[in-house]
Amino acid sequence: MADILDPEARSVRMRSVRRQHTTPELVVRKVAHAMGLRFRLHRDDLPGTPDLVFPKHRTVVFVHGCFWHRHADCRKATTPKTNTDFWAKKFKRNQERDAEKVAELDALEWRVIVIWECQTRRPEEIAIALARAFDFHGPRREMLAND
Ligand SMILES: [Zn+2]
Repeated sequence: MADILDPEARSVRMRSVRRQHTTPELVVRKVAHAMGLRFRLHRDDLPGTPDLVFPKHRTVVFVHGCFWHRHADCRKATTPKTNTDFWAKKFKRNQERDAEKVAELDALEWRVIVIWECQTRRPEEIAIALARAFDFHGPRREMLAND
């Protein structure tokens, strides 16, 4: 079958395939696991179905794709050059929904941590961010050695 999409449209379509258990998410799970943190996945009884939930710390983590969730000043948060109105509305809706979910979680007294897709290229920084958030003094070095 001939591919009639231009490269830009094709790459947008590829990114639009909504996947759970994406690679960035797996990176975060691996880091959290190596730190000995206990977490649950995709708890749909919480607003926004957070990717990781740390019940003991009453904290949730969202692993956001930079494109769809519009990571500020990020190279990956490109804007397609065609159908600009469509994309502007879509991005706005995504951002509004994200803000809404954070507000709902906040009202339920859950702490929200957002980790961006591009940040998962540096797992050691995720470890540091989680350690700081949880005031955790575990075997961070061992974790890095294993990686
Ligand atoms: Zn980014």
